[in-house]
Amino acid sequence: MGLSVWESGAFHRQPHLAVVGGGIVGLFSALFYKRQPPGHHVVVLEGGPFPSGASMKNAGFACFGSPSELLADIAKEGMDAALLRVEERWKGLLELRAELGDATIGFEGTGGHEVYRSGDPLYPQVAEGFDGLNAALRPIFSRTVFEWANGEIARFGLSGAEHLVRTDLESPIHTGMMMDALLRKVQSEGVLLRTNVHVGDLEERPERVRILLDDGSLVAEAARVLVATNGYSTTLLPDLDVVPARGQVLLTKPIEGLALRGTFHLDEGFYYFRDYQGAVLLGGGRNLDIAKETTMVEGTTLRIQGALEDLLRTVILPGREFTIAQRWSGIMGFGAKSKSPIIERRSERIAVAVRLGGMGVAIGIRVARKAVELIA
Ligand SMILES: Cc1cc2nc3c(=O)[nH]c(=O)nc-3n(C[C@H](O)[C@H](O)[C@H](O)COP(=O)(O)OP(=O)(O)OC[C@H]3O[C@@H](n4cnc5c(N)ncnc54)[C@H](O)[C@@H]3O)c2cc1C
Repeated sequence: MGLSVWESGAFHRQPHLAVVGGGIVGLFSALFYKRQPPGHHVVVLEGGPFPSGASMKNAGFACFGSPSELLADIAKEGMDAALLRVEERWKGLLELRAELGDATIGFEGTGGHEVYRSGDPLYPQVAEGFDGLNAALRPIFSRTVFEWANGEIARFGLSGAEHLVRTDLESPIHTGMMMDALLRKVQSEGVLLRTNVHVGDLEERPERVRILLDDGSLVAEAARVLVATNGYSTTLLPDLDVVPARGQVLLTKPIEGLALRGTFHLDEGFYYFRDYQGAVLLGGGRNLDIAKETTMVEGTTLRIQGALEDLLRTVILPGREFTIAQRWSGIMGFGAKSKSPIIERRSERIAVAVRLGGMGVAIGIRVARKAVELIA
């Protein structure tokens, strides 16, 4: 069946850049490429009916790392590498807020916290490294980042917690509002978004890349392709060091008089919780069953959801009745060897911007900018 002249001139026009994956990285990459003169035709090919990856499944923490996580990173990789990543996250958060606006992304400004339960082995390490960590972070933030806030434990209604660290530089955001605003912006600036297009293969030719669906049929031919499929990347490029990592989340129904405000990390970031419209959003527990959670298949398990509910009962909502309103999961992309993203050319015409770990809200916009610099 032939295309009409209108179809071939509009929706089927061959793009200069095709971005595979419509998450935060793919959308920002498309936007920044489109903004470069001469404003080439850019298409985003998203496999789901709308962005369906981690960018729409996350917990909405605008964060840059809790003290225990940062101290562990410094011990593992050295001060310079760990601080460089913090700086990227912080710059990314500032750029995200400037690009979309605090009100638009639902930035609440209620602060971030790390909770240490009684007998938590992380506490002595954090207490010992606390001042040194603040001193190391000062050049990035031009101020003291973390402070002890044990007095606020009772105010938030937490139980079994003995120590609390707070930073007012971190905050919850509304992930849905952020992605909705980003989608609108991308389209209003002329990027074409095609959904339900699951790319199965890329065939590079001297002058272009042929983009094929799973059944081998041709979707488009583009001068350049950027793969931004994060945790799903090895289905297209099997040799990439990207390991899929499922994260599970639950949301309670609203709790009357909930005192919790802000974002909270526990156990080196393996658990995280926040308030959301009077309810508690809680995620984590991958460390309980790493083998099963190393998957691209969405789903929740009794084991991890049970552990999350235990945490609600013992620490977050002690003595309170609660009902679970929703449970979901999302797929992240980690590295077997590195915590940093992969932003690289695979060939003359194909580049990748993947492996965002658990920090894509913060670094997604920076990764996109670097990817565009690489391919432009
Ligand atoms: C439960 C959970 C909680 C999280 N919490 C936070 C948090 O609080 N703060 C934070 O900073 N980060 C958090 N993250 C991580 C953050 O969400 C990710 O790092 C970020 O969203 C990654 O963005 P992305 O664009 O690289 O990938 P994604 O958002 O996963 O986008 C990839 C897109 O590619 C599409 N796709 C895949 N394969 C194909 C294909 N073959 N063809 C076409 N399309 C395809 C997918 O449908 C998807 O929409 C969390 C993640 C999870 C799962």
